[in-house]
Amino acid sequence: MNTIVALATSVGRSAIGVLRLSGDDSLSILSKLTQSESDPDPGRAILRSIRDPRDRQLLDHALVTFFKAPHSFTGEDIVEISCHGSPIILRQLLDVILSLGARLAEPGEFTLRAMSNGKLNLSQAEAIRDLIDARTTGAARQAVRQIGGELSNRLAPLKDELLTLIVLLESSLEFAEDDLPELQATKVHEAIGLLRERLAGLAQTYDVGHWVADGIKATIAGRPNVGKSSLFNALVRFERAIVTEMPGTTRDSISEEINIKGIPVSLTDTAGIRQAKDHIETIGIERTHRAIADADLLLVVLDGTIELNEEDHLLLDQARTTRSVVVINKSDEPSFRNPNAANHPDVNPLVVSALTGSGLDKLRAAILAPFGSVDSEAVGLLVTNARHYDLLQRALEAVDSSSDLMAEKASEELVLVGLHDALRFIGEITGETTTEDILTQVFATFCIGK
Ligand code: GDP
Repeated sequence: MNTIVALATSVGRSAIGVLRLSGDDSLSILSKLTQSESDPDPGRAILRSIRDPRDRQLLDHALVTFFKAPHSFTGEDIVEISCHGSPIILRQLLDVILSLGARLAEPGEFTLRAMSNGKLNLSQAEAIRDLIDARTTGAARQAVRQIGGELSNRLAPLKDELLTLIVLLESSLEFAEDDLPELQATKVHEAIGLLRERLAGLAQTYDVGHWVADGIKATIAGRPNVGKSSLFNALVRFERAIVTEMPGTTRDSISEEINIKGIPVSLTDTAGIRQAKDHIETIGIERTHRAIADADLLLVVLDGTIELNEEDHLLLDQARTTRSVVVINKSDEPSFRNPNAANHPDVNPLVVSALTGSGLDKLRAAILAPFGSVDSEAVGLLVTNARHYDLLQRALEAVDSSSDLMAEKASEELVLVGLHDALRFIGEITGETTTEDILTQVFATFCIGK
């Protein structure tokens, strides 16, 4: 295998920057950089001077670590060079390494090599990417579990069960003159039903899992001055310590991502949209409509100190037809009215004060409520990857068709088609039956250096 190199740490100034090489020439490239005859002990970091072999120019003093094949992440010889995190030095060093015969790694190529060498399967490789991309503790925790092989471990007995059924049906095809005896047919049918339940149970976890991985988009809507921005700020401030920066946002942006029980929730304050230019109330409504068309949740804010008007009622109508939470704000005001004043019994409003923070805990819980029991920190293993979910669904459909055919007492040959399909779909999750195309697609979503 030719030797690949990439920056393993993020681009930019930092205390340390790590360049990683993998492949047959890793060690010889290292010895040219360190001008050293003796090979470093595998797995042990040593301090070396790094020079450009072309002019013996000293580039940096770095900690270098050699991992000898097959005992490395990729299963190949790996060298890691931990330099000072100066973009200039790292760039120079990268150029020198390229001049010594290594080539730049493609996105995910280290992980792809690890997979090709049997170090991990496809779902574990994807989980590494998901861990790096995780925006909350919940998403990170699920990814770590999947790197550990939990998903593959859950799939293994399902595959075994499928294989057992396939072998049974195929042998009956080969050896028996007639169809399966009645008793055995019933047992097979039952076993298929059980398998279906287990597959469905796993697939169902995606209901929660995809919110954990992809996050919830919540739009705050309400007429001017009800306290949308105040509520937005209060929710964001609450999370300030662990809030993740959204790329490209500025201080006065209208979207921020907060973390509620491990779920990334992207909050959008439509007041910010309105501020640009808006004299007519209906324009605000229109913009809000557009903002919520894209949202997973509508957070309607009412002002408890004033009468509801037409705009409030329009939003409440909207709230009833989509996932929503309705809050009545300004509960700290003496003129605050009974929430029933909203007179929309089916929206069940929450009473809050953006000013004092009262009711915000309940609001945070209510934001998650429409998404099922989304406490990602308390639940077990979740399917978080759309590709995995899609394959589980297809496996489920295949098993269903086999089950229907069993019920109709169709021939074993027909029943077998669905079981074989299901086995193939499950195999695609872990990469055993995956085509080159799918691998290319999956690894294209990795970052370079992973
Ligand atoms: P928006 O136009 O809906 O974004 O409303 P703002 O957040 O700008 O708030 C409008 C006014 O209501 C401001 O003067 C806020 O200080 C005030 N306000 C917002 N929330 C509360 C609250 O919970 N209690 C009280 N007493 N005033 C509030």
